[in-house]
Amino acid sequence: MTTCIFCRIAAREIPSEKVGENDGAFAFLDIKPLTKGHVLVIPKQHAERFADMPRDSALAVMELAQEMVVRQSRRLGAPGVTIAVNDGRAAGQEVMHVHVHLVPRAEGDGHGPIHHLFQEHAKLKDGELGEIRAKLTGK
Ligand code: AMP
Ligand code: ZN
Repeated sequence: MTTCIFCRIAAREIPSEKVGENDGAFAFLDIKPLTKGHVLVIPKQHAERFADMPRDSALAVMELAQEMVVRQSRRLGAPGVTIAVNDGRAAGQEVMHVHVHLVPRAEGDGHGPIHHLFQEHAKLKDGELGEIRAKLTGK
């Protein structure tokens, strides 16, 4: 039996407030919501990191995430949603099974954009943007 809490939630061995599912993904309410209606979408097949997901899982997760965002808008009346993945411990990932956070937002709720996580922008040397592009593309 797996000890991964999110695998156990997807397998219905541990109770959760399920809000949706498809062949490859499962959606449920976060137990400590950042705002009301905070949903987590996970692949049914265990993967620790975003890059570990097989393509089928990744597509299923994004498809279900999109469906949930539409419901948060239409049924909960959310005019906005913050969509985020904490990928890796350095990025704040605590549960090591990929999960997409869908956090409903309200006008003027004061939480700001994801950019507010950072006190300042990266300081770039001349030409550094091009160097980074070259590393990422191999060209
Ligand atoms: P992260 O920091 O991105 O790994 O976020 C983990 C999230 O999982 C947190 O928002 C927790 O509140 C949530 N969480 C942990 N355990 C459960 C659980 N049993 N049911 C629902 N949400 C959970
Ligand atoms: Zn797992």
